[in-house]
Amino acid sequence: MWFFRSPEIVFGEDALEYLANIQGQKALVVTDENILALGFVERVQAKLAEAGIETAVFAGVEPNPSMKTVKRGAQEALDYGPDWIVGLGGGSCLDAAKSIWIQYELPGRAPDDVAPTGKLGLRQKAHLVAIPTTSGTGAETTWPIVLTDTDEDCKVSVGHPENIPDIAIIDPSFVNSLPAQITADTGMDALTHAVEGYTCHWRNDFSDGLCLRAIQLVFDYLPRAWQKGRDDPEAREKIHNAATIAGLGFGNSMAAMAHALGHSVGALLPLPHGRAVGLLLPYTIEFTARGYLPTRYAEIAQLLRLPAGDEAEGAASLSAAIRTLARTIHQPISLQEAGVSPEDFEARLPKLVSNALNDSALLVGLRFPEDQEVEKVLRCAFEGRPVDF
Ligand SMILES: [Zn+2]
Repeated sequence: MWFFRSPEIVFGEDALEYLANIQGQKALVVTDENILALGFVERVQAKLAEAGIETAVFAGVEPNPSMKTVKRGAQEALDYGPDWIVGLGGGSCLDAAKSIWIQYELPGRAPDDVAPTGKLGLRQKAHLVAIPTTSGTGAETTWPIVLTDTDEDCKVSVGHPENIPDIAIIDPSFVNSLPAQITADTGMDALTHAVEGYTCHWRNDFSDGLCLRAIQLVFDYLPRAWQKGRDDPEAREKIHNAATIAGLGFGNSMAAMAHALGHSVGALLPLPHGRAVGLLLPYTIEFTARGYLPTRYAEIAQLLRLPAGDEAEGAASLSAAIRTLARTIHQPISLQEAGVSPEDFEARLPKLVSNALNDSALLVGLRFPEDQEVEKVLRCAFEGRPVDF
């Protein structure tokens, strides 16, 4: 038995209008100071006012939100008593909104005490709307929540399928002015979700089509969205859709080795999530394909009209195409190029390897690496040398 889970998805021009028609009394908007300064919160508040819903704003979310922050947000929710929580922002804001919602529904529950099994019992007090303002994480469609434990200096991954948002609003007007660097980083994240969702052990008939469509959209439109920004609304909208489609795809399948390595790298070296996983993706494809198992990289290569006479050629073509895409949008293709010094890399390598081996995303890849293989893949990624073992 398996499940396909999705919020109600409202997409395209004027998708935000949908908020004017929802039923309720009070909404708590969970966001950050940057989104507030951009005027996005006011736009959301105006639509909710049309629906007769009053609002309060918690704008205290920081990048990689801490457990302390979400506890503060939950206290605001408990004091205010909303029947809607509205997450507005990038992945950090959406994850914080999910966590605040859970603690509001289940007061006293610690933010890191949410496991994906059993019944959680949400939606007694409120429902959740997610409005992404970047095109990449897919957090508007998925249930895992990543928080930072600032006392222990580590990340905690929690969540339950019940905390998938009720409604996701995919309105391209929120990403029209996204800076080129964030467009590139988050776009590579979306691509990595789609490739890994299509090729990991948990792939399935329901997520396959979503992943393939997202891959095609990223290759077709990410260079345009990156280069032309707000002057190419079509590309912006397509990439915004692609990120959510990829989120649905991998959210109902799984991410794999590029994410295991990317989480590890992102926690120890100063690299944004999307840049890290996008950079690592071709190396993990090369490593996985060298396991001589049937993979599906050739199928993806065929979709992209790349040479794919057999599995090996398909994997090589796909890795090369991902690196070419990264080059086109000025993304680094090695850790060294991404600014990691040889000293930092060597000092952190043992921890990078052990953290990656402890990441659940590694388990669903088609080829499971030994400790030494993880180290070798990371060395290749540092030096920019294709994986050939
Ligand atoms: Zn990701």
